[in-house]
Amino acid sequence: MALPRACLARILSHRNPMFLSLSPLTMHANYLSHSQTHSLTLSASLSTSEAPSSHEPHFRRKPMCLYHSQGKCTKMDDPIHLETFNHDCFRELLVNTAELNKIRSQDLDFFLVLDLEGRVEILEFPVLMISAKTLQVEDIFHRFVRPSKMSERRINEYVEGKYGKFGVHRVWHDTAIPFTDVIQQFGTWLMRHQLWMGEKLIRAAFVTCGNWDLKTKVPQQCEVSKIELPPYFMEWINLKDVYLNFYDRRATGMVTMMKELQIPMVGSHHLGIDDTRNIARVLQHMLLDGALVQITARRNPRSLRDVKFLFKNRIG
Ligand SMILES: [Zn+2]
Repeated sequence: MALPRACLARILSHRNPMFLSLSPLTMHANYLSHSQTHSLTLSASLSTSEAPSSHEPHFRRKPMCLYHSQGKCTKMDDPIHLETFNHDCFRELLVNTAELNKIRSQDLDFFLVLDLEGRVEILEFPVLMISAKTLQVEDIFHRFVRPSKMSERRINEYVEGKYGKFGVHRVWHDTAIPFTDVIQQFGTWLMRHQLWMGEKLIRAAFVTCGNWDLKTKVPQQCEVSKIELPPYFMEWINLKDVYLNFYDRRATGMVTMMKELQIPMVGSHHLGIDDTRNIARVLQHMLLDGALVQITARRNPRSLRDVKFLFKNRIG
């Protein structure tokens, strides 16, 4: 089955104009379940005609395997599955090593880029660990999160509304675990990387686009899930504040920063793992432009709801 490219482009541009020239593949038949890989022939064939951007090495774009990103892919010996889905989300975040001499010396060794999804309860918790020296992705922690205070029916509606349009609701249902389990696994992951020993993060800081994720949403979810706020969420970097102070331009969100820096978007906007990859690309770009990426917000240890913002010029 083959649709003319122009025809497919119209379909895709209807959904997201930014995708037209960038990555039609991930938008179309994204992240189907393991049993549905055969239906991806159409979109997989398209990717060969993609022109790689200057930011990207020459490889064929494929949708990421969202089982694999969570450490749950059981089809690593299936050649069709491997041909259809990307199992190496690090490749498109590769940086030209010749450019690394432009980076300033940073206070931190690692940035943990995080972008939560889910307004009512958290539905997705993706983190990319990026080296402050090489800018390479060192590791990924990605989990879909099952709400704890909703009926099954409400969860189904919520997930369908949020992820149905990306075609990932099936993988969500196959893999989502409660927030308490996510936090337990994430703590183990941080310890394995020697970034956390039970108190504040060591040599690392979270990077978010705005303050909502860590100032508001995580404490809310901890309350709902009846757990204490983990002590590694004491401080973070709001990339928009760093952007404002470094470029002297206000950017209201990730898409604005990407447009202004002329970074092509990958994946689907508002799919947490894809937004995380895109924020990581903004971070890489800023580091290569010579930005010093420092903590912008810190909680008062005696009153956790009290957050102090460290930059004078800031953008919420
Ligand atoms: Zn897989």
